[in-house]
Amino acid sequence: MLKYIGCHLSSSNGFLAMGKQASEIGANTFQFFTRNPRGGAAKPIDPADTASFMDFAAENGFGQIVAHAPYTLNPCSADEKIRRFAFDTFTDDLRRMEYVPGNLYNFHPGSHVKQGAEKGIELTSELLNRVLFEDMHTTVLLETMAGKGSEIGRSFEELRAIIDRVELSGKLGVCLDTCHVFDGGYDIVNSLDRVLDEFDRIIGISRLKALHLNDSLNTLGSHKDRHAVIGGGSIGTQALAAVMNHPAFDGKPVILETPNDLDGYKKEIALLRSLAK
Ligand code: FE
Ligand code: FE
Ligand code: ZN
Repeated sequence: MLKYIGCHLSSSNGFLAMGKQASEIGANTFQFFTRNPRGGAAKPIDPADTASFMDFAAENGFGQIVAHAPYTLNPCSADEKIRRFAFDTFTDDLRRMEYVPGNLYNFHPGSHVKQGAEKGIELTSELLNRVLFEDMHTTVLLETMAGKGSEIGRSFEELRAIIDRVELSGKLGVCLDTCHVFDGGYDIVNSLDRVLDEFDRIIGISRLKALHLNDSLNTLGSHKDRHAVIGGGSIGTQALAAVMNHPAFDGKPVILETPNDLDGYKKEIALLRSLAK
């Protein structure tokens, strides 16, 4: 099975530069922040750059790429100003993604900060109802979260509750982060099939659109969210390879968000390719 494996890259030199950099390290997909991860204005889109990237990606057999919303985007904040920033950023990012149609936009469902998970779910689905549009060509991904602090999206049930409240839910998918679900209490080391069956029962396996492949510095159910290099944490290389090779992820982008420089990523991609079935 052909695998689409890549890592997180810096977007500062544009799309074609990211595509070439990905190729150089053996990747055929990648992830990038749509703007500074801590927020702020995005560089204007250069239509010549996005067009050359689309050609490059097709010629080099790339899979879908994953745009990641900035960490500061919190759709369910109690603060109206922060929710406004989330709306403005989300809207602008989805408009920009139309220059690279057919790809994925991943975001963290948010932190409810003392309002309760139910209120958080309500506010996040409200935002999705305002930003998704009928003729968009991007699939928006809710990332599975570790449940650190007051994060929502820490269980499959919470993700399902958000999706259920969204009118254009056909535009929505889920990105499974191995470190986050493990820290969230899903035992992908000893019961991968059971976890994915549960995902299927609660959310539906067809919603699974991308994989963040990270080891975890912490233990099952720790609700911590600290990524480790592949094999450098409590999930381990074999279990991570089993997730990557599970048929549920066939044809889906596998993205490393491990603490690495480019050379480290290159080595991890080679390792994963050697373990790919
Ligand atoms: Fe993330
Ligand atoms: Fe992630
Ligand atoms: Zn994380």
